[in-house]
Amino acid sequence: MEKKKFATHHGMSDLLPGEVENWQVLENIIRETARRFHFQEIRTPVLEQTELIARGVGQLTDIVSKEMFAFDRGEDRYVLRPEGTAPVARAYVQHHLAQRGGTQRLFYIGPFFRAERPQKGRQRQFHQFGAELMGASGAAADVEIIAFMKSIYEQTGIDNTTLKINSVGDPESRSAYKKALYDYFQPLSDKLSEISRRRLETNPMRILDSKEEEDQPLKADAPKITDYLSKASREHYEEVRKLLEQMDIPYETDPFMVRGLDYYTETAFELVSPDLGSQDALGGGGRYDLLVEEIGGPPTPAVGFACGIERLMIACEALGIALSETSGPDVYIVTRGEEAARWAVKTMPGLRSQGLSCTMDYAGRSIKAQMKDANRQQARYAIIVGEQELQDNRYTLRNMSESEEVTLSLDDIKKTILT
Ligand code: AMP
Repeated sequence: MEKKKFATHHGMSDLLPGEVENWQVLENIIRETARRFHFQEIRTPVLEQTELIARGVGQLTDIVSKEMFAFDRGEDRYVLRPEGTAPVARAYVQHHLAQRGGTQRLFYIGPFFRAERPQKGRQRQFHQFGAELMGASGAAADVEIIAFMKSIYEQTGIDNTTLKINSVGDPESRSAYKKALYDYFQPLSDKLSEISRRRLETNPMRILDSKEEEDQPLKADAPKITDYLSKASREHYEEVRKLLEQMDIPYETDPFMVRGLDYYTETAFELVSPDLGSQDALGGGGRYDLLVEEIGGPPTPAVGFACGIERLMIACEALGIALSETSGPDVYIVTRGEEAARWAVKTMPGLRSQGLSCTMDYAGRSIKAQMKDANRQQARYAIIVGEQELQDNRYTLRNMSESEEVTLSLDDIKKTILT
């Protein structure tokens, strides 16, 4: 009977050699940029308490209402984390990070999980890098976070992004705005999509997120939040824009960008790319001044961003950007006979201790097959060893790209490769 073959779950991918190297280069860029901005890495568990996410992200959001991978074990309710901000805020409260003084400047990289319908740029396990600046209320913090995010993309060579910004105001601005939206959409509710009709009663701001066709003409004339901002929110938003201009960071304002997560206050932003199709956001973020308090911490103004790594890779591919160069081993030892194979095993540690990467044949193949393998693996050099070479203590060194061979002692071989 044929054995069952297994594959990854829908919306979850393996990262294979060849792709992983691009991710590693990106991770180095993120870590180096974080160092320059003086953000420190934080790593939180992949499983969190379901209630943290429900409270932090918001019961009525898509993430909480339909996209969580959650399960119970005994009394405990676990969820595979769908985003990074609530976990970081939880860690901030749990470990009293505020007591370390000053602002906390934290970044993270890791896997996240949402039971969404998979499509290009939308997976069930995806990866984000993100940052949180906690304990800072001024517009300079918002702009610092945006500059950090943008700087990472600039270093990858992705240069066709658009930064969109908006303000979702403080709670007073928002409740005035929600009422205005309700009053506007209510008489039109027959024409709204079913999902928007439901949102009208629960959270009318989410209607602005709708991608349903029938909602689009109705959305176009909807009231804009910028007309309902309190004085303090308006001033904060103006200061953010002024600072962005001073820093020569171009942006577009989008009064209908409200983002899907409930915890945002004041500034909201998104970085979009023309290369992503309908899922056009590379990343986004905003201010979330109420979240830390909502999950039991002290009042803590904060601002952060989160960006998708898979979408960044899609943008790189569309722009023909290769983040990493594939490289083969420095040395492939080609052996004829058992004695030569033993010599190779004994010799490789010395080469490796000098920093050279090396490999050999482990399948007892012919010299011809080994040379083919060395070529396929893009080895820089092959050392060819047979009985005669072992007797003479001199070995053939082949420069693979130039197809040139010399016969040398092992010491001279090392010198040649290392220069
Ligand atoms: P969010 O946490 O929803 O604000 O998402 C921030 C960024 O994470 C998005 O702009 C995407 O780049 C990425 N992202 C979110 N959800 C997914 C997903 N299901 N698949 C792939 N990337 C995602």
